[in-house]
Amino acid sequence: MKSSLVILYHREPHDEVIENGTIRYVPQKSPNGIIPTLKSFFANNFQGTWIAWKQVTEKQKNNFSEKVSVEDDGNYHVFRIPLSPEQVKSFYYITSKEAFWPILHSFPYHFTSESSNWNNFVEINCLFAEAACRYAEDNALVWVHDYNLWLAPYFIRQKKPNIRIAFFHHTPFPPVDIFNILPWREAIIDSLLSCDLVGFHIPRYSENFINATKSLRSIDILEQQQVPKHLTAIGTALAQPDFTTKIKHNNQIIKIDAFPVGTNPKDVLQVLHSEYAIERFRKIKKSFHGCKTIIAAGRVDYVKGNAQKLEAFNRLLKRRPELHGKINFILTCVQAATEIRIYKEAQYQVEQLVGAINGRYSSLDWTPVSLFTKPVSLLDLFCYYKAADICWTTPLRDGLNLVAKEYIIAHEGRNGVLILSEFVGAAIELPQAILVNPYSTKLMDEAIDKALDMSEEEQEEKMTEMYKTVSTYDIKYWANRVSRHFSNNLKS
Ligand code: UDP
Repeated sequence: MKSSLVILYHREPHDEVIENGTIRYVPQKSPNGIIPTLKSFFANNFQGTWIAWKQVTEKQKNNFSEKVSVEDDGNYHVFRIPLSPEQVKSFYYITSKEAFWPILHSFPYHFTSESSNWNNFVEINCLFAEAACRYAEDNALVWVHDYNLWLAPYFIRQKKPNIRIAFFHHTPFPPVDIFNILPWREAIIDSLLSCDLVGFHIPRYSENFINATKSLRSIDILEQQQVPKHLTAIGTALAQPDFTTKIKHNNQIIKIDAFPVGTNPKDVLQVLHSEYAIERFRKIKKSFHGCKTIIAAGRVDYVKGNAQKLEAFNRLLKRRPELHGKINFILTCVQAATEIRIYKEAQYQVEQLVGAINGRYSSLDWTPVSLFTKPVSLLDLFCYYKAADICWTTPLRDGLNLVAKEYIIAHEGRNGVLILSEFVGAAIELPQAILVNPYSTKLMDEAIDKALDMSEEEQEEKMTEMYKTVSTYDIKYWANRVSRHFSNNLKS
């Protein structure tokens, strides 16, 4: 059966549970993230299809079900593209992480194309496009997610000229001089120009895309708009006063929009208010032994600026000895799923710095830094957010940074301090945070001092404002923005 809505997303929307040797496909437990929201579109009369990839070995291929249904999620089915471990390694861990990732995040000196396999990337994008065309009605909406599927729109458009294609870019889109380093830049831009709508988190990224497009192809600018007030934040690094919202290329009209991904405050708070979470929160708070606590959560990745944070914390302990024994820094720095040289180096650097700080300052009853390299469960992490006095989230570059929004929700506008990098998408939505340039040691030092010294009144004032923002521009708002572009055909 054909679908009126097809979503292409690299991850499956379900969990697999093995019971008595049988695989069950069950809805994901996590209330957070975009998967539950995307799935909610299928709830309104859609017979939808979700297309993802799944790694399978030669042996597993014999018993592999490409099409599965998720228990209790009746309105859609999932089609999984089977990829061999070699294909995944080349597509996901080498071409994406060694070539695209450093360019997307403006780290051109980490870029390498030598080990990339562009043909494999094209092939996998083609498989996604073929699957989309197989399941989509002729005028369906196909919603493609992120740079791993950059080329899918082009192949879909070739096969189904009347189909409607929306693309959302979940990472930053870099400035044109950096984007154009990619030797495959024309193919990427041509594919994005095959869409009806291309969405980015913030206007700066969409303008970067327009500039890259202008440098490579001839386009007509049809419409430009003032950036809405809640995304302006003039005076900060990623601010952008106006942006292009409609262009024309080869007789095709392409809408451009900027709408940052939000969180799901209602569901997150429902989890945090459960009896189990309240008990976990109490235990976690007690484990702080009355110390002022800073939380930083994220992955091992050079873009996340973990080393810069640890160096600033080291300087803090040196500069302010009165804090010894009275401050904790909890750092979750989740290690990469597979061996990627550059991530291994980043992890080694973090471990070295944590070892050096703890080695120098620990006493029998105080360890300044607690490092987790295995993922902390979302429930525990939310309890840590709620218990922590300060959230220190200062990536050198990040598409959005959900951690900042989650910390704000966990505090429900009451207290807490957010130190946020100016170079993450969320910074332009949250000017009340202590915004900092993480490339400057002086500014990082000033930011942590300011956070430690902020009065309770000021904390409450700022957190109330930010809580209003994240509650208004939540994940529903984000998803409905796409529906607006396709009139009444899509409702969540
Ligand atoms: N996260 C988690 N456990 C951890 C560290 C992070 O569940 O130990 C979650 C975090 O709550 C957030 C996501 O991972 O929802 C990270 O999202 P973000 O946008 O900050 O960064 P990304 O990893 O997408 O670059």
